Amino acid sequence: MPIDAFEKPIYVTRPMLGDLAQYLPHFEDIWASGHLTNNGPKHQALEAKMAEVLEAPNAKLFSNGTLALITALKALELKGEVIVTPFTFPATVHALEWCGLTPVFCDIDKNSMCLDPTKIEALVTPQTSAILAVHVYGIPCDVDGIQAVADKHGLKVIYDAAHAFKSTIHGKGIGTYGDMTMFSFHATKLFHTCEGGALTFNDDALAEKINLLKNFGIYDDDDITIAGGNAKMNELQAAVGLVNLGLIEEEYTKRRALRTLYEQRLASVSGVNVVAIPDNVFNSLQYMVVRVDESCALNRDSMHEALKDYNVVTRRYFHPLCSEFGCYSHLPKRDLSVAQHVAQEVLCLPFYGALSLEDAGRICDMIEAVIASAAKPAIAVAN
Ligand SMILES: *Cc1c(COP(=O)(O)O)cnc(C)c1O
Repeated sequence: MPIDAFEKPIYVTRPMLGDLAQYLPHFEDIWASGHLTNNGPKHQALEAKMAEVLEAPNAKLFSNGTLALITALKALELKGEVIVTPFTFPATVHALEWCGLTPVFCDIDKNSMCLDPTKIEALVTPQTSAILAVHVYGIPCDVDGIQAVADKHGLKVIYDAAHAFKSTIHGKGIGTYGDMTMFSFHATKLFHTCEGGALTFNDDALAEKINLLKNFGIYDDDDITIAGGNAKMNELQAAVGLVNLGLIEEEYTKRRALRTLYEQRLASVSGVNVVAIPDNVFNSLQYMVVRVDESCALNRDSMHEALKDYNVVTRRYFHPLCSEFGCYSHLPKRDLSVAQHVAQEVLCLPFYGALSLEDAGRICDMIEAVIASAAKPAIAVAN
């Protein structure tokens, strides 16, 4: 039986939004006080909650994740080269460029798809100052392996945890590993503040410096002690965050049900493998990622294209690799063969609380249909 396409495009995500009425009391407070930004009451409330939610000794809010990451690199006073994964969203690597640091791309582990600690050491030079790793799709990096290399060579470790909101490793908040961890609260992330981000870190001595760096370095009326930027979260963003924190449990419940459905339906589809999250890790449920391997009748790119005919817009996160972007073509070519292979296999499927189980089921039917029609030998049209 042929399957009808969706009437409107189905994208990989849709922002989590509560009823407008839930946000209004916060907006009324803001209008009454006239306090729109500069560490206002909503910001303070969200910042305090964020340290609890992320189980980190220090949490600082930002206007977006990219500026949070740039601020982390500045706060740690990095110089020279930084070893980084190419299998990530461009912002990770762009942050290095904006700080005048040289990205040195390192290959990833074929299972976790995160930076491979065994490949880092060969890339360390006297100019190397840090390792910037990404907990890609919320799958934790080998934090112990990365820290061991960092300790041996005196390097800082920064994590991009844009996909790993509320994740834990060994039962500890993921933001407590390394020197600093960045979270993104962009509208495409499960927990969001429209745009927004945070840094978490253990060293209390960095708190004051971070506050200065995100607010022009204004120490007091008479002095500016550091050439800071402007990366402050405003009161409206913080208000959205305060409400949205209360919505995440319901969102998790819905996404868990969707994930279970995808897992069950795709288990019988040969060559389409749902990426598992290690058992002892809280699944941030940020993405629904599958890997389309050689045993599938259709390769990943053809599946991505074929599903568009059904109005299903999947995303090939993270293809192409950052190392293949024109803006990084001047960098030395390195062996990134695992990352290249992985980037050919991954496909993110529609995954958000407002997606019905019925529609997710239809998407699985469509995946089966596009594979079946690829597997079938072409039939000559008679007459
Ligand atoms: C979303 C994202 C960012 C950028 O965060 P913004 O808040 O949009 O600036 C950085 N790194 C990764 C891996 C991301 O997915």
